[in-house]
Amino acid sequence: MAKAKKKAKGKVFKEKEWRLRPKTLEIHGGGEISDVELRPSVHRVTAFSMGSFDRARRLFAGEEAGFIYTRINNPTVDRLERRLASLEGAEAALATSSGMSAIQLLSLYLANSGGHVVSSNRLYGGVFHLFRDMLPKLGIPVTFVENPYDIHSWEKAHRPNTKFFHVENPSNPIIDVFDIKELVALAHSFGKPLVVDSTLATPALLQPLKQGADIVIHSLSKFYGNGEVIGGAILGEKKLIDDLRLTWFRDGGPCMSPDNASVFLSHAESLFGRMKEHCKNTEAVANFLNRHRKVKKVLYPAFGPHARANRRLMPKGFGGLMAFEVKGGVKEAKTVLESLKLFWHAPNIGESRSLIMHPATTTHGQMSPRELAKAGISPATLRLSIGREDPRDLIEDLSQALAKI
Ligand code: PLP
Repeated sequence: MAKAKKKAKGKVFKEKEWRLRPKTLEIHGGGEISDVELRPSVHRVTAFSMGSFDRARRLFAGEEAGFIYTRINNPTVDRLERRLASLEGAEAALATSSGMSAIQLLSLYLANSGGHVVSSNRLYGGVFHLFRDMLPKLGIPVTFVENPYDIHSWEKAHRPNTKFFHVENPSNPIIDVFDIKELVALAHSFGKPLVVDSTLATPALLQPLKQGADIVIHSLSKFYGNGEVIGGAILGEKKLIDDLRLTWFRDGGPCMSPDNASVFLSHAESLFGRMKEHCKNTEAVANFLNRHRKVKKVLYPAFGPHARANRRLMPKGFGGLMAFEVKGGVKEAKTVLESLKLFWHAPNIGESRSLIMHPATTTHGQMSPRELAKAGISPATLRLSIGREDPRDLIEDLSQALAKI
């Protein structure tokens, strides 16, 4: 065993000394000498034997690391957490049952009762609802920055009791790209953390912690999991993750199942390659729609007033999400959506298959007409999650659907 350990040590796991590249980390990242399986087995179990009386006390007091109960930690989930941390360049990660539970948990932990949050108004509708309606019920008001490209608007929203700044980057559904370094500088000038929801970028395209952000959140239900399972993650310093695990996480119970963790581990191995295909296909579809006479506007970072800055901020590509406005209104949007043959009408992002949604009446339906307008979402906006099919087929499908209006 000692010999095997020595061999493994020299082989793969000394990440710090070897400096494995990101593409290798999606397969080996976060590996430990104690890992003996090439592919992780699923530890489908609720509780773990704790050994001696004294060890049980130490485990429960957080004085010794070890597995206790799957609501707190589990070997399969732990392996996923190490992989996620390695890919993101984080000290540690906490896997959660969904992206929403990650955001809710972190908000409760950081802002408690009486804290205040400053957030961009360019958010997934579920997060918008959590921030606008639910957190204030618990005594946590949230100020939305309605012009998030203007750093002074962020500054003005700060209050003495602000506990964190929150940004979704890029944003869902209209793919705004923000300057993380600029937001970090602002947040830190007040001594407050910047939280980045990096779901749409994934570490294949951006690593916000390396740009100075303090905490990263992911909905793993999107590109990471390739649409197979639901999950989320919080990544940051080990002290933060350890503390979260033994407080709101342990007491609230939004843990990830080991079965889901093993599925995520499997899909993580192809993340970088898949993201490349998503980026390439989305660019092709966006270029096609940008030239189409029945399309009023294409919402994709390569176009519009921020295009140059966006290329600097996301040099590896803009990911697999885009949106467009058809000429006309909700009637025309409905006709296009219902005429598509290859696109699935489904509320997800980041799957192999291409998906379409009408945000104003679905994913962002909880926002008022004014809030939608402020966030850049019109009744004619359609969101596309571009998959990994041959983009020529996607373009033909969009072309025949647009011909119906
Ligand atoms: N963050 C973003 C950017 C999202 O798009 C979503 C869901 O669409 C979430 C968070 C919530 O994630 P989940 O559906 O895993 O709870």
